[in-house]
Amino acid sequence: MPELPEVETVRRGLSEHVVGKKFKKIEVLHHRATAAKSIASLDSLKRARVIEVKRRGKFLWFVLDRPEVLVGHLGMSGQLVIRRRGAPDERHLRARFVLGKEELRFIDQRTFGWLGVESTREGIPMCVQHIAPDPFDPKFDLAVTVSRIRAKKSEIKRVLLDQSVMSGVGNIYADEALWRSKVHPETRAENMRSSKVISLISSAAEVMSEALSAGGTSFDDLYINVNGQSGYFERSLAVYGREGEGCLRCGQQIRRITFSNRSSHFCPKCQPTPRTTGNQ
Ligand SMILES: [Zn+2]
Repeated sequence: MPELPEVETVRRGLSEHVVGKKFKKIEVLHHRATAAKSIASLDSLKRARVIEVKRRGKFLWFVLDRPEVLVGHLGMSGQLVIRRRGAPDERHLRARFVLGKEELRFIDQRTFGWLGVESTREGIPMCVQHIAPDPFDPKFDLAVTVSRIRAKKSEIKRVLLDQSVMSGVGNIYADEALWRSKVHPETRAENMRSSKVISLISSAAEVMSEALSAGGTSFDDLYINVNGQSGYFERSLAVYGREGEGCLRCGQQIRRITFSNRSSHFCPKCQPTPRTTGNQ
């Protein structure tokens, strides 16, 4: 599933190809390509010119020369790619935006991704209003985020994935950040010291920024950038997908546990089981 570094890689790639261009023709090829909450059909954006491509967490949107935006989420397997006009259609092609010599294509094998037309408030699409800024957003407030995390009476792994607390962190980078900060995924957020939460947020920002430099992680072949290339970051993952292999810090075997329907990978020695009371 694409996380912040992958979505940001896509945003940067799209920006190079679509900014200043007009949607000359729009074709919707699958009904699930359009979000149920879309306020208009996608083809109502015909003749709109793209001003900018923006992102918050895992949501992307195209700012247009009109009040509405084209907003999208890649879901599990969505791809937004640029192809030259007339290139053969992909098997799971769901929507096509003709820009001129190039086309913006939305491809989605598992159809959990979507595009929609939305209005905005303070520059943020309505469906993104409940999403908290991610650590790369100029509006990100560290002190506010730390208090929000410590106010959650829940396991830290679950809190890291809560996009209304801090956005952008998904399962892979949550496991990597917890390993870097030596925090067990089941540690209660309310028992963590502020300094530990700050260290965890910096680890999350650090690991996502390294992944971004590598063009994202593509562990399941479904994530590709706009030119159809995969990222290389999976070579740098320390715990995710490494169950039974040695910890890169201490050699102990990496363990995988499941809670809240997600796999969590951690080192039992570097990330010891939390005590039930007192500060961690
Ligand atoms: Zn270890």
